Formats: sequence, C-alpha cells, structure tokens
Amino acid sequence: MQDNSVMPVHPEENDLRMDRMPHIWCSGCGLGMIVSAYMKGVKQAGISIEKAVVVSGIGCTGRVAGYVKLDSYHTTHGRAIPFATGVKLANRELNVAVISGDGDLFAIGGNHLIHAARRNVDLNVICVNNFIYGMTGGQNAPTTPLEAYSSTAPYGNYEQPFNLVGIATAAGASYVARWTSAHTKRLADSIAEAVSKPGFSFIEVISPCPTVFARKNMGGSGLDLLKKYMKRTKIDHSADPTKIPLDMSNEIVCGVFRNEEKPTFWENVQKGTERKVKKTMEYKVTKRKMTGQRGLK
Ligand code: SF4
Ligand code: MG
Repeated sequence: MQDNSVMPVHPEENDLRMDRMPHIWCSGCGLGMIVSAYMKGVKQAGISIEKAVVVSGIGCTGRVAGYVKLDSYHTTHGRAIPFATGVKLANRELNVAVISGDGDLFAIGGNHLIHAARRNVDLNVICVNNFIYGMTGGQNAPTTPLEAYSSTAPYGNYEQPFNLVGIATAAGASYVARWTSAHTKRLADSIAEAVSKPGFSFIEVISPCPTVFARKNMGGSGLDLLKKYMKRTKIDHSADPTKIPLDMSNEIVCGVFRNEEKPTFWENVQKGTERKVKKTMEYKVTKRKMTGQRGLK
C-alpha cells in the first residue's frame, strides 16, 4: 500500500520559492534549465546564497527573480542593469546577477547594457535569447533572425538582428560566453566562472520558446528545439565573437570567447578618489608654502 504521508520532494526545492509554484512558464520552455544552471553555478563557485542577488527586468525571463529563493528584484522594463549597478555599489560584498531576456536587455535596456560593459561594472549578466518577445505576443525582437516570422513580421523579418556576444565584446565586457539551455553542465560551469570573476560578465543563453517563436516558425516542441540546437552547435572558444551572428539554420558557435582581467568600475572610482585627495593635499601644501600660512586650511 502506498504511503501518502511521504510527499515527493522536488530536487531543487531548496533553491526555489515553492510557494510561487506552479510557475507561469510554458511546457518545453528553456527557462527552467537556465535557473537550475544559475543556482548550480553559484554553489559551484562557493558563493553563499545569502550574498547572491538576482535582478530581472520584464518578460518571461523577468519572472526568474520571483522563483529563485534568494534576494531578488523584479524591476521595470529595460532597467535591470542600472538597478543592479546600484545594488552592487551600495554593498560590494554582494554577488549580483542580472537574468533577463534579449528584448529587455538589448531593446529598451540596450544603452544601459553597453555602458555597464564599458565601465566594467562588477555584474554577471545572463541574457536569455529566445529570438522574440514571448510574453507580450510574439513581436519582433532585436534578435529575431532575418526572414523568421513573428506577429509583427508576418511576411518574414527584414531587419538584421543583433549579435549579442559581438556587442558585449565591443562594449568592453571582460567575460563573454554563449551557450544554449541544452548545455546544462557547460552553462553551469560558465556561470561559476563568470560569478567568480570581478568585472562585467556576459553570457548569452539560446533558449527554446516553443509556444511563440517555434510555433510561428515551425520549430517543433521544446525538446525538438533542444535537439536542433545541439545538432547545430559548434564549440569554439577561439572564435571571434564579433563574427558569429546567429541565423535560422547555420551553426550556433558556442564557447567562452573572452576572459580578461581589467580594472572594475569600483576600482577606477577608488583610484579617482585617491588622485583627487592627493591633488588636494598637494595644492594645500603648495599654497601654505607660498603664503607662509601654518596648518592646513
Ligand atoms: Fe517560455 Fe516562450 Fe512560453 Fe515565454 S512564451 S514561457 S519564453 S515558451
Ligand atoms: Mg525574448
């Protein structure tokens, strides 16, 4: 006879806000795998959950902040990066990740992203690229491949899409990688590497959206899409990230394309403050000598 007093425990119950279940994501969506990889990566990096913070913007991926069991913020559309920058600068002991979608981070939030990368703010940005605006009805996103169908491109998209890893690299990110949500182990390892590294890290994760993008483009189920992505993937860490755009059929080049050391925004702020203090002291000493004053005024 079955013992009904023993309830099955979800393997990730400790990482998720179970009171928020069931989640709103569609069956076959890649987002669950990405949340799981993030939690694994943080633990793998030895970062205490008490010090990890997740900030999300708006859209299907924006819901990540509501499901992870750690300090998290679901912010306004496109503003996850400035919000996260404020969190990090206010408490530099925190490990701050922005997990948001391609529309949120590269359309309305595009300017914030490139300037945070330029400043090398100590943030870990995980951009879930499903090639479309999923939650709001399947409109063209800045990542929708040329000729793909969307609700605002019923005859096929005629806009060139952004190459996200190319933009992040050109803007100055110190860590840049691309994976798909099928690469669960590699993605978790890459997240562990990124969250351990000071400076602006950017990871693009190609993720199936069977309900909207795939339905409009005859892509099949979530599982079909994962299989296709795996088949099309070529891992090449030495690839030039500015030369590996994505389209509907060619290979998806994945890997860690950039991993370099350079001063973070906060380190530069500190250096600037020290320079200012030194100059002020020098000026006061010179003035005192010239005027014969005693003591600093
Ligand atoms: Fe995932 Fe697409 Fe459904 Fe949004 S609409 S939850 S991205 S499958
Ligand atoms: Mg999207």
